[in-house]
Amino acid sequence: MKELLKELHTYKLGKIVEHVPLKEHTTYRVGGTADAFIYPKTATDLVKIMKLIKTYQVPYFVLGKGSNVLFSDRPFHGLIIKLDELDEVKIRGQIVTVGAGYSLMKLSSLVARKGLSGLEFASGIPGSVGGAIYMNAGAYKKDMGYIVTKVKVLTPSGRIISMVNRELNFHYRSSFFQQHKDYIVLEATLKLQQGVKEEILALMQERKERRLETQPLEYPSAGSVFRNPENQYAGKLIEDIGLKGLTRGGAMISPKHANFIVNVGNATSQDIKDLMDLVKVTVKDNYHIDLKVEQELVNWE
Ligand SMILES: Cc1cc2nc3c(=O)[nH]c(=O)nc-3n(C[C@H](O)[C@H](O)[C@H](O)COP(=O)(O)OP(=O)(O)OC[C@H]3O[C@@H](n4cnc5c(N)ncnc54)[C@H](O)[C@@H]3O)c2cc1C
Repeated sequence: MKELLKELHTYKLGKIVEHVPLKEHTTYRVGGTADAFIYPKTATDLVKIMKLIKTYQVPYFVLGKGSNVLFSDRPFHGLIIKLDELDEVKIRGQIVTVGAGYSLMKLSSLVARKGLSGLEFASGIPGSVGGAIYMNAGAYKKDMGYIVTKVKVLTPSGRIISMVNRELNFHYRSSFFQQHKDYIVLEATLKLQQGVKEEILALMQERKERRLETQPLEYPSAGSVFRNPENQYAGKLIEDIGLKGLTRGGAMISPKHANFIVNVGNATSQDIKDLMDLVKVTVKDNYHIDLKVEQELVNWE
């Protein structure tokens, strides 16, 4: 790691910050300390960074806004790559080209103010464009798969290529990138529709109010913990067994929304993981259903 950092400094491939508490970069506000973060300014810098990572065989992780990850409490001995500076947006008619580091919420409000429709579903999703494509983030029966036409990606062999929608295998909270974790999303092209600005903004406002009413947004969380099993709602299953309000250390199954685990006071990652495991076992015992965690567990055994 030391040698890698030395080279990264020498070649000036982006801002480097060492010994970073992951709780400052995850919406759960938990996680151990990472050896270092790097913020490449361009895709070309990222290509060089990935080459060096391979040479020195250092573990790495591409982190978006940290709104769908649960890092363990252990130190992360490796490099965290943050694409915050790949944040250019171009809008030409109904076509939007946007860097992977751009905030999805910011984008949905930017295009709404231009009267473009298609991203209303994303106004309450606090991720990056890259993370949203990886997760195929969605809501209200819409997801990224409906609007992404192509993405620019960095392949494991160090090439930058374009991939079109049909190659990206978008399904419910799933995409090509979950099966190919060594591909990195650099940029996305979205196709939106012309709509009526006032109607789009009104719909987004209505949904925001609904989220505030139904989701525990006053506490740190990473959104829904479990994927909905076919024709069921994970939250309803958890609520019906009476698990709402259950706590482990500083983590709690939200009394407002049973599919959220919230950090109500200095939770550890282990507290959250313990609740996840407990819910899984209890749901399995009661309904014979295997709940699947929607969030990415990183740096666990
Ligand atoms: C309050 C709240 C509400 C939420 N509501 C919703 C919702 O309605 N619908 C929904 O789908 N989700 C929801 N989420 C979850 C989360 O916001 C989304 O999954 C989001 O898309 C994650 O993006 P991120 O940038 O935070 O990704 P991260 O959490 O940083 O990373 C998630 C995964 O994506 C990978 N990744 C990130 N960037 C890239 C990249 N450029 N290239 C390749 N891989 C990458 C990471 O390596 C990681 O494996 C919610 C979360 C919160 C906290």
